[in-house]
Amino acid sequence: MEIEIEKLGLPSEENRPLLIAGPCSAETEEQVMATARKLAQNGVKIFRAGVWKPRTKPGGFEGQGETALPWLETVKAETGMLTATEVATPEHVEQALRHGIDLLWVGARTTANPFAVQALADSLRGVDVPVLVKNPVNPDLELWVGALLRFNGAGVKRLGAIHRGFSSIDQKLFRNAPMWHLPIELHRRFPTMPIVCDPSHIGGRRDLIATLSQQAMDMGFEGLIVECHCNPDQAWSDASQQVTPDVLDFIMDRIVIRNNVELTESLAALRKQIDQMDDQLMDLLTKRMRICREIATYKKEHSMGVVQTGRYSEILDKRGAQGALCGMDPSFVKKIYESIHEESVRQQMEIINK
Ligand code: PEP
Ligand code: MN
Repeated sequence: MEIEIEKLGLPSEENRPLLIAGPCSAETEEQVMATARKLAQNGVKIFRAGVWKPRTKPGGFEGQGETALPWLETVKAETGMLTATEVATPEHVEQALRHGIDLLWVGARTTANPFAVQALADSLRGVDVPVLVKNPVNPDLELWVGALLRFNGAGVKRLGAIHRGFSSIDQKLFRNAPMWHLPIELHRRFPTMPIVCDPSHIGGRRDLIATLSQQAMDMGFEGLIVECHCNPDQAWSDASQQVTPDVLDFIMDRIVIRNNVELTESLAALRKQIDQMDDQLMDLLTKRMRICREIATYKKEHSMGVVQTGRYSEILDKRGAQGALCGMDPSFVKKIYESIHEESVRQQMEIINK
């Protein structure tokens, strides 16, 4: 399906990426203004603040709602920055527009729901406001594309995407796995649509923001949306991933923007994808070995032998056939599984003979 994109028309600082910065949540007028004033002094042109917060569990801070919108109007009047907030329902859209919000984004949990996305898209018919659509929480490119097409189909042409990583059950370095190949594939499909990276939600930790931001720039992303708070440790949501306006300024000063980086075509981007996949492979192998060691304990307790040949042949046959279906040589897949099996037998022997 085709997409019709117009420029977002958002301001950015010279020699810096398009930058949207501000707190995860608008908590109090004082917190919003203190953060905004400092960001504006540091040259930031677009202020973000969550007014309605989708929380995984009830009982957390769910945002100030409409009460916070006049604070964002004050930010704009006093600092000249544009304002941005997350919308999840047509009522949010109506209220945000009524209070002069300049940029809307759709959160990851909303993008995952086509009914909610369609309702939002319908509420934006005939309205010229830029909309950025975050990837859905799950790594489903089609769902992300579908959401973008729903907005575009409703006439939203100042449209972009935000890459905020994908959740998974395993605990690892990142809060949300970047899976860079997904935004890169999105870019391949819609080359004129800008994609902004959200290093705060990918990393989940403030010390990862600089590296992730530089990585995004090296891969040719259009800009960054970064969570920034006047007193990050006291933030009512996402405290561990927020930085002060001065830290953000320090990070942005050190970002190197290389010319002519193309999101899909840069060799470095492809190598980064390979590195990322190798990380995932190592991660999976580590987990597989851990489970093999648990099996060894079971075998030891039940006086079983280490190798059950039936099970081993089943794995080789099944994975060989699966590899062939995926376009790989079955003997290559067999070799991999023989090596994995050899290492897991070695680890099991260690436990059984202890
Ligand atoms: C946010 O931007 O504060 C937010 C809730 O993000 P996400 O939808 O990416 O989880
Ligand atoms: Mn947040």
